[in-house]
Amino acid sequence: MTEASSSDKTTRYKRVMLKISGEALMGDQGYGLHPPTVERVAREVKKVHDLGVEVCMVIGGGNVFRGLQGSAQGMERTTADYMGMLATVMNALAMQAALEALGVYTRVISAIPMDQICEPYIRRRAVRHLEKQRVCIFAAGTGNPYFTTDTAATLRANEMQCQAIFKGTKVDGVYDSDPETNPDAVRYDRVSYDEVLQKNLKVMDASAIALARDNRLPIIVFSLDEPGGFEGILRGEGTYTIVE
Ligand code: UDP
Repeated sequence: MTEASSSDKTTRYKRVMLKISGEALMGDQGYGLHPPTVERVAREVKKVHDLGVEVCMVIGGGNVFRGLQGSAQGMERTTADYMGMLATVMNALAMQAALEALGVYTRVISAIPMDQICEPYIRRRAVRHLEKQRVCIFAAGTGNPYFTTDTAATLRANEMQCQAIFKGTKVDGVYDSDPETNPDAVRYDRVSYDEVLQKNLKVMDASAIALARDNRLPIIVFSLDEPGGFEGILRGEGTYTIVE
C-alpha cells in the first residue's frame, strides 16, 4: 500500500495522471510560457497533491513547437518531432520550478536522457518518487517521433498504474460539437472509448484513446480554467466527462 492510499481515504483516486497541452501554459500571448499562468496551474496541482493524491503530469509542447508544423514547412519529420519533444522538456522544467516555489517536491523525468537537466525514465524509480509524494513530470513524450504527448500520457499512466487520466482543457468536458462555436453543443457525462473514436470526438488522438481503452484506463476531461476544478473532481464533485 502506498503512503497516499494509507493517509487519505476521501479521494476518488489515489494516483492520477494530469495531461495538459503546452498551450495551457501560454496564457493569452499566443506563444511560449506565461509565468502567472504556469503558477496558476501549479496551484491547481498543489491542491490535489495536498489531498494526498499521487500526481503524475505530462505537458505538451505545442506552445513552442509541433513536429507536424515543422514538417509542413519542409523540415524533415523526425527532426521536427525531436524539437517538439525538447519543447516539452522546457515546459516540464517551468512547471517544476512553479511547483517547487509552492513547496511541492517534484521530479522531471525524461524519455530522452539529459542527465544535467533531469532524470532519465526508470519506471521503478518513478514509482518510488510517487510513493514519496513527489509530483512526477514526464517529459520528452514517449521519446519517439510520430507520437504525441497524449499517447505519452496514456503510456506513462499505464506504466505508473494510475487510476485515471485527467485531461485538462478549456472546456468542462466532451461535447457533441465545438461549444465555442455552437451554443447548442451538448456535453456528455459519460462516453465510451469506441464512441469517441467513431465520432472523432476531440478528446485525445486515436492511438491514445485505443491505448486507454485496451487497458481500461478512464479519461476524465475537465476544465483547467475552473479554479479548484481538478481538486473538486477528486472529491467527487464538479462537471466533467468520463470516457470509459
Ligand atoms: N512528440 C513526439 N513524440 C512524442 C511526444 C511528442 O514526437 O512521444 C513531438 C511532436 O512533434 C509533437 C510535439 O512533440 O507535435 C509536442 O507535443 P504535442 O503536440 O502532443 O503537444 P500539445 O499539443 O499537447 O501541446
